[in-house]
Amino acid sequence: MIKKLLLIVNPHSGTGKMRPQLLKVVEILSADDYSVTVYPTKARGDATLKVESLSNGDFDLIVVCGGDGTLNEVITGLMHSKISCPLGYIPSGTLNEWSQGLGISKNIAKAAKDIVSGNIIPLDIGKFDDKYFSYTASFGAFTSASYSAPQEIKNVFGQAAYFFEGVRSIGTIKPIKMKFVADDREVEGDFLFGAISNSMSVGGIVKFDQSVVKLNDGLFEVLLIKNPDNILKLQPLIDGILKKELNRDGIEFFHTKKLYVEAPGGLSWTLDGEYAEGKENIEISNIHNAINFIVP
Ligand SMILES: [Mg+2]
Repeated sequence: MIKKLLLIVNPHSGTGKMRPQLLKVVEILSADDYSVTVYPTKARGDATLKVESLSNGDFDLIVVCGGDGTLNEVITGLMHSKISCPLGYIPSGTLNEWSQGLGISKNIAKAAKDIVSGNIIPLDIGKFDDKYFSYTASFGAFTSASYSAPQEIKNVFGQAAYFFEGVRSIGTIKPIKMKFVADDREVEGDFLFGAISNSMSVGGIVKFDQSVVKLNDGLFEVLLIKNPDNILKLQPLIDGILKKELNRDGIEFFHTKKLYVEAPGGLSWTLDGEYAEGKENIEISNIHNAINFIVP
């Protein structure tokens, strides 16, 4: 029986590097008795609206070909619509750390083949007030980099764009007075950086031990860096993060299902690499097994 596949394509992601490969992707996806409908996104937010307009049964499979921003839009649409349709991802952007953690190939044709032969697993999704994220919500040093770096720079330098912008910002970063209430603890103080994530790495810099992160355990990893009372204590904190020694003084690292955050109003957050304006009170929750995702 012919199955129906919706291929949502962002024609502009990754300098449009998927453009010449689109026909090949359609051929690969069609080989497995799928009838492929291609939907090119027209503007920011368009992918969310497209998925929200779908009813159960319209498609048997949705595949996103684009960057993490497009993936986030499709996941947001799925969360709003409540249709239960498996999701495949062909990354054509540059910053796809989460998908790398899932073993998804950066090679467009290989990623398409892996969808045809792949397995469906449930994955957790993060809710940040009324927004969603698939891998990271973060604030402070390093985090403005992914959206402040111009798209051309991100296309050329990829992960390095995060790093250089991050290092440049560390001297100018101002500590942020915040309070965090997790399942089993409260943490309060002045912070330089924080990430609530469901990913093997954050911003291409912070890489967690594989054994501490599971993408469908209903839990986030929370990593917070406190502002040291002496600037000389900053380097050991950064070293601790790079060496995965997260038990050092000044580093808070824990798992939680829910996190309530008190922060200055208007604090800049980054959700999956995109800017999001924060509020004074934010509720972040892990929606367990929220989507069915196709992995190799
Ligand atoms: Mg998890």
